[in-house]
Amino acid sequence: MDENKIKSISLETMQAYLIKSMLDIKHFAPKEYCYSVMFNHWVHIECSEKIVDRVLRKLVYLLHPLLSMMEIVRSEFKSPVIITSGIRDLELWNMLYGAGYHISPTTDHSFGLNYNPYGVGALDHFVVGVPAKEVYEYEKSKFDKEIGQLILYKKSQFIHISNNRSIVFSDKFKSNILKDHKKYIVWDY
Ligand SMILES: [Zn+2]
Repeated sequence: MDENKIKSISLETMQAYLIKSMLDIKHFAPKEYCYSVMFNHWVHIECSEKIVDRVLRKLVYLLHPLLSMMEIVRSEFKSPVIITSGIRDLELWNMLYGAGYHISPTTDHSFGLNYNPYGVGALDHFVVGVPAKEVYEYEKSKFDKEIGQLILYKKSQFIHISNNRSIVFSDKFKSNILKDHKKYIVWDY
């Protein structure tokens, strides 16, 4: 790679690829979990140099179990899993909100970054050529212990999966501080 090309790579892109190399997961690219196609936006991992390694480690820690589940789903259905939304930073949240999406500021999609310390990681996804309901039922039975929340969007044909909060928080913290949420949800839209 020539020097000018290296200089033109943004910090966000470099961070995304660094996360990818730390993850050591076979099939998923940074553009699937660190990037928004809709807004052509790489997530900003904004933090001081002092804590950048801690933030990256947390992102990897939360992404790894999610992507490992996606690898299992991929081999079960023998078809690619497409991740349509992963990490959302504050800018992306604002852009989605501005475009009319009513998304919670405490969504698990905002994770590892500083603006929602309670997010534990989530991915929206679908499997090419497989009805979302079938994937949802499979994930529900296969990953019951690992899942925090699993949502099937019937009309849009995609699934939201999040880590179990116990990956980060103690039972005491969960019951006293975090609002309880329903684990398995099917939406018509
Ligand atoms: Zn989602």
